[in-house]
Amino acid sequence: MPENAPLLPSGLSERRRARGYITLLVPVVLVLATLGVLIFGKREPTDPLGLAQSWLDHTPVVDGHIDLPIYVREMYGNDVTKFDLGKKMSGHVDIPRMRAGRLGGFFWSVYTDCHEEIDGPDFLNPSHHVRDTLEQIDLARNLMDRYSGTFEFVTTAQGARDAMARGRIASFMGIEGAHQLGNSLGVLRQYYRLGVRYATLTHSCNNAFADSGGYDKPPNATWGGLSPFGFELVKEMNRLGMLIDLSHVSDNTARQAIKASKAPIMLSHSAARHFNNFSRNVPDDVLEMIGRGKGQTDGVVMVNFFPSFASPDPDSVGVAAIADQIDYIVSKTGHHHVGIGSDFDGIDRVPKGLEDMSKYPYLIAELIRRGWTRYQVAQLAGGNILRVLEGAEGVAARLKRVKGPSMAKYDKRRDLDGGWGGFEL
Ligand SMILES: [Zn+2]
Repeated sequence: MPENAPLLPSGLSERRRARGYITLLVPVVLVLATLGVLIFGKREPTDPLGLAQSWLDHTPVVDGHIDLPIYVREMYGNDVTKFDLGKKMSGHVDIPRMRAGRLGGFFWSVYTDCHEEIDGPDFLNPSHHVRDTLEQIDLARNLMDRYSGTFEFVTTAQGARDAMARGRIASFMGIEGAHQLGNSLGVLRQYYRLGVRYATLTHSCNNAFADSGGYDKPPNATWGGLSPFGFELVKEMNRLGMLIDLSHVSDNTARQAIKASKAPIMLSHSAARHFNNFSRNVPDDVLEMIGRGKGQTDGVVMVNFFPSFASPDPDSVGVAAIADQIDYIVSKTGHHHVGIGSDFDGIDRVPKGLEDMSKYPYLIAELIRRGWTRYQVAQLAGGNILRVLEGAEGVAARLKRVKGPSMAKYDKRRDLDGGWGGFEL
């Protein structure tokens, strides 16, 4: 319509024309008013905590690392009839506090311990790592079933979004150390089939795949980063769509894995070394490798709440110190590469003000005070980890079309050499 075309046919009186405008305007005003009530009817709180709770109601927290399974193993011998997650538990985790904290999902860590003396110098000693990992997977699934009105077992980013839309807590699983693989990519593939969606390349010990970062100081390097078998592990995890988790690993392992991975990576529960010179913390140059710029790899660094990582003076650590960690990681990587990996039920001390799962909104409130936007909070809370997982799913879909399962073996194993050891049928 030309700019000067009349709205009503010419020749109508001014009054009729005015009535015509009103007739047109009334339904428009009604529609706008209805939309206004729908969108703005519930006025947003003005205090940071109220705002944090309101925002998280729509984009809840997806925590990268919760140690409930090992807590239950140590406290109750994995017997799910001996406690009630619907009531207050003695640790940091139970259903009422998950709900109060606006938790929408988390990775259940199906962790078993590593000990160098158990595994031996070549990591070949028989161990119960695989049995114990299966027991932890069984425990996690038993708890998800027992509280099926709360938890929903998920294996994909979209599955998590759907579960959250239904009001359920999306439940992923991750293993915390490649020592849990029994030196076998076949075991990795079976964990994937059981629903495991991330594997940390090491815990605090070196293993057949990679060197660990240890705790405050790294153990002596066995491989100088990834072993040749470790590079094969990275490739196979990319092909499967299992996220490579670089918490706990040595600096060289992290650098090599980030370069080698064709898929986005994660650090499920890590702090920045900038604040505390522990080898378990992530150095700046590794943070700077994570991103979507040239030469970078997409990923998410999920911030650990453990006060001993956050500061050389753990007693001083409160909400602000954890927010400092987040802001610092953002300064190195941008807002699209940070998340929350509290380590609840796996840490023996907690920051003041972030004592348990009910307290996530207090951390978000601190970030709101610092100027974080609703969109940035949504990415931190759960958007980034789900994007990263979805990225790994896409890479796997492409790789699976052209590659079958890896036949790589740990070269120190002799039991898979074939040939029946000279025996003839
Ligand atoms: Zn850990």
